[in-house]
Parts: sequence; structure tokens; C-alpha cells
Amino acid sequence: MENCIFCKIIRGEIPSKKVFEDDRILVIEDITPQAPLHLLLLPKRHFVNSLDMSGEEDGEVGYIFRKGGEIAKQKGFAESGFRLVQNNGAGAGQSVFHAHFHLLAGRAFTWPPG
Ligand code: AMP
Ligand code: ZN
Repeated sequence: MENCIFCKIIRGEIPSKKVFEDDRILVIEDITPQAPLHLLLLPKRHFVNSLDMSGEEDGEVGYIFRKGGEIAKQKGFAESGFRLVQNNGAGAGQSVFHAHFHLLAGRAFTWPPG
């Protein structure tokens, strides 16, 4: 997508702090971290959120779920726990309309979330 900020990051047109990349996903540090570890897991294919899926994107979403756990474990947060969260729509806090999961760890988390 031409004017999507995450597509621009994926294309390398906007700098980011890369943690992992392959042909399907890019993992970067969040620019405004909300926890000691705050990463964004981005599918390279552009879609908005769970309401904008045709089925072709299912693989990336499953892969992100697994990869999020793998990275959290690598970073030492398997035992303490971590959040993998995703906002659908502005009313739920989505501010960038390219699907992404947040990986948050390194502090206590409350439930229900704010
Ligand atoms: P959401 O509010 O769930 O759509 O999450 C969007 C996230 O993207 C926020 O946590 C922002 O801090 C983060 N963000 C926005 N612009 C950038 C950027 N250029 N590089 C890294 N993270 C960003
Ligand atoms: Zn995009």
C-alpha cells in the first residue's frame, strides 16, 4: 500500500530497528515502548486487521503467533509471561491500519486490559 507507514518500513523507506525478518514477516521495536520489551510483528502482506482477511493471510497470522512465542522465549520471558496482542479498529486502540501484533514483556500486566 502506497501510503501505509508499515508498508514503508517493510520496503525500507522508513528506518526501523529490526529484530527479525524473513520473506513473510518483519519484527521491529515499537517506537513508543509500553514495556521493557515491546516489539511489533508485521506480516509483509498488507491487510488491515482480522476483519480484512480473505483466508490467504491465515499462514502469516499463525506464523506470527508462533514466532512471537519463540522471540519471547529467546529474550528470556517464557517463564515470566508475555502479551501478544492486536487491536482491531480505532475504538480498540488501532492506530496503524496494517495488521500487526504487539509482543510486550518485562513488567506486570493487569487483566482486563485498559
Ligand atoms: P496500534 O495502536 O495497535 O495500531 O499500534 C501501532 C503501534 O505502532 C504503536 O504502538 C506505535 O507506537 C507504533 N509505531 C508507529 N509508528 C512507528 C514507527 N515508525 N516505528 C515503530 N513503531 C511505530
Ligand atoms: Zn501496509
